[in-house]
Amino acid sequence: MALLEIRDVVKQFGDFTAVNHVSLSVEAGEFFTLLGPSGCGKTTLLRMLAGFEQPDSGEIILDGVNVAGVPPEKRPVHTVFQNYALFPHMTVAQNIAFPLKMANVPSEELKQRVAEVLEDVQLTPFAQRFPHEMSGGQRQRVAIARALVNRPRLLLLDEPLSALDAKLREEMQIELINLQKEVGITFVYVTHDQGEALALSHRIAVMNKGQVAQLDVPEVIYSHPKSRFVADFIGQCNLLDGTIVAIGHDRMQVEIAGVGIAETLLLPDATVGQKGTLTLRPEKIKLAASLPLDVTDEVHFKGKVHDCLYLGDVTIYVIELENGILVETMLPNSAPGRAKFFDDNDLVELAWRYDAGHFI
Ligand code: ATP
Repeated sequence: MALLEIRDVVKQFGDFTAVNHVSLSVEAGEFFTLLGPSGCGKTTLLRMLAGFEQPDSGEIILDGVNVAGVPPEKRPVHTVFQNYALFPHMTVAQNIAFPLKMANVPSEELKQRVAEVLEDVQLTPFAQRFPHEMSGGQRQRVAIARALVNRPRLLLLDEPLSALDAKLREEMQIELINLQKEVGITFVYVTHDQGEALALSHRIAVMNKGQVAQLDVPEVIYSHPKSRFVADFIGQCNLLDGTIVAIGHDRMQVEIAGVGIAETLLLPDATVGQKGTLTLRPEKIKLAASLPLDVTDEVHFKGKVHDCLYLGDVTIYVIELENGILVETMLPNSAPGRAKFFDDNDLVELAWRYDAGHFI
């Protein structure tokens, strides 16, 4: 059985439904992320796991036990909030000991448990330091150590990195991945940052309007978005409206009006005449002044460079297709001494493998 099972949970505030029939399970040792835009219900779901809110209906089963009515302090979970909120006037050891003191744990046991946790997060040499004498990454370790000292089964993290600048945030993300691996505890992590979710998680539940829009490993969420919402919310994605015009045994053809026919992976239950959207990531598109036309599994369209955005490592080329639709493409600037391949108004050809796009 999974460590955590959320079964058909609903939470309303007045007549507004913040969490709408959510079911999912989290395995022991997993780094599981709830990802979604502001207001999608992810924090409300996390607060129900912590026990700060009660579901109106549905069940939350933790370690085989239904936690309905169990108050926060009696649940085997701990919440880590934004900025970590360490006590500045206490040493690292005192910060970590604080929850045990509150629970009146006898002093010998307290010392022993603090020492164990310090060892787990590799902070033993820093026990007598104050938070301001530590780096951001070390402070994060102290906060997690303080959360672990009560031996929770589940650590809930509510946007802990959201107040940091981009560079520090990346360092802390790497630190967090390593820390989770080392201590092996199950994380349920809330963020609205898709890059962070892709980088950190074993699995992601993308939420929209109180519901789970898609739940999968990061690679599938990114490359196989199941809906326009997920395609659009996670990274950059081109969305080309089209109609299925032919169906083969593993592929089908989609007509993009005014541009041409794109071959793509067969959609189960596809029918000729069905309308939908071809989703295509910018980096999947090849771009050249003229591309070889003899490759059978590639889609070829013509276009004109509309905009170039030089970003250092890559250049984004926005291409206007023959029907006036703009498509974003991306080329790495890996050739030495060459910053840009094309300029505004250059005529170009676009190509991609039939399985690079997905029709939804
Ligand atoms: P954010 O990233 O902005 O925190 P979120 O996805 O975590 O967004 P929630 O905090 O779960 O969203 O809120 C979901 C919806 O429920 C929001 O529209 C919010 O205004 C509403 N909501 C949350 N808590 C309450 C409350 N106590 N009373 C009334 N409405 C609430």
